[in-house]
Amino acid sequence: MPELPRPIPMPLDEAVAQLLARAQPCLPVESVSTFEADGRVLAQAVVSPLTVPPHDNSAMDGYAVRAADCAAPGAELPVSQRIAAGHVGAPLAPGTAARIFTGAPIPPGADAVVMQENTTAFANDGGGLGRVRIQTAPAVGDCIRRAGEDVRLGSMVLAAGERLTPAALGLAASVGCAQLQVARRPRVALLATGDELAMPGDVPPEAMKPGAIYNSNRFFLRALLARLGCQVQDLGLVPDRLDATQAALRQAAACSDVIVTTGGVSVGEEDYIKAAVQALGTLELWSLSIKPGKPFAYGRIGGAHLCGLPGNPVSSFVTFLLLARPFLLRLQGAAQTAPRAVTLRAASSWPRPGGRREFLRARIDAAGALELFPNQGSGVLTSAVWGEGLIDLPPGATFQAGDAVRFIPFAQLL
Ligand code: AMP
Ligand code: MG
Repeated sequence: MPELPRPIPMPLDEAVAQLLARAQPCLPVESVSTFEADGRVLAQAVVSPLTVPPHDNSAMDGYAVRAADCAAPGAELPVSQRIAAGHVGAPLAPGTAARIFTGAPIPPGADAVVMQENTTAFANDGGGLGRVRIQTAPAVGDCIRRAGEDVRLGSMVLAAGERLTPAALGLAASVGCAQLQVARRPRVALLATGDELAMPGDVPPEAMKPGAIYNSNRFFLRALLARLGCQVQDLGLVPDRLDATQAALRQAAACSDVIVTTGGVSVGEEDYIKAAVQALGTLELWSLSIKPGKPFAYGRIGGAHLCGLPGNPVSSFVTFLLLARPFLLRLQGAAQTAPRAVTLRAASSWPRPGGRREFLRARIDAAGALELFPNQGSGVLTSAVWGEGLIDLPPGATFQAGDAVRFIPFAQLL
């Protein structure tokens, strides 16, 4: 196998910028039911063909009145009509109140709603709708939700490039949108390399051979890919041999937009991914100045992109979140691919400066400060479960308890 030149490790921001540039052009557009669109990336803006709410309506169960008719505390008015949600009332006769329910249109002539809790209702002896005493004088506009206060006719409610959330689906539905135009799901072929890997379920713990470990990366990567809207083709395990790695990558390239591999991408003689990519296509990025995750690689085989993640579980997890995630989002046309970080105080210190940008697993304590997981080893997956996110520490930086640090919550990365 030819020796690969050892590149100078690339800063993360530069690597992400290069990946995003390579994620063009985007995937084809398809129409999906709004019900099915959670997590997908919108390819066409949603413009509202109507006003929401469509009419002034009551924010409360109560009585619609003319404020001027009940300016004096304790004013009593006959109830002239009853308007439930989904029904339209008649114009409000002067000097009367309309019994009204939340969401019902305000009748013409009424200019305020008095909530039921601030009234006393009296039945009429001879039947009818009775009378109501208004205990607190309303101001004009009280408890009225104005037409168009949520959405105006013709306004854009969702922009192309937005990643759809449950709330966004509700908003699309509120303007009558039953179908949404989204990017087709990226087809992602997933491969795990390593002769030491066994599958939970195939081999019980007591029968694990010496040197064997379970393939944990396959599980979180499948879940992460699914959350990013990908259609995962799990191609299973690849043994640590160049011919087997080439065969697996050839098969993966034929059926996917993106190949994600774990392991076999470092500098050891048993790492075959880079050599196989070079034999079949081009290796365009390798070696980043980050910890964990230095050996991340990107290449192309035919029409497929390849993200080569390191094998160490935390390295694999972190490089997926920092590199493969933005790549997969941009491939779908997402405008926002960078996670939003927050600044928080550290609860403890990190006295050892490192040469690379470091991502430390941490969580927020009861006082709102960041606690570090005690073992930051790249094989310690417990840290990623215990942690609520990553402290993003610049190369060479240290911190003391109380210092402000940059924190990327996992919630921003999933
Ligand atoms: P590699 O990048 O192939 O040199 O692997 C680095 C370390 O990660 C080794 O200790 C491997 O055993 C471990 N490893 C590789 N792949 C996986 C995987 N899919 N699940 C769990 N550990 C893995
Ligand atoms: Mg390996």
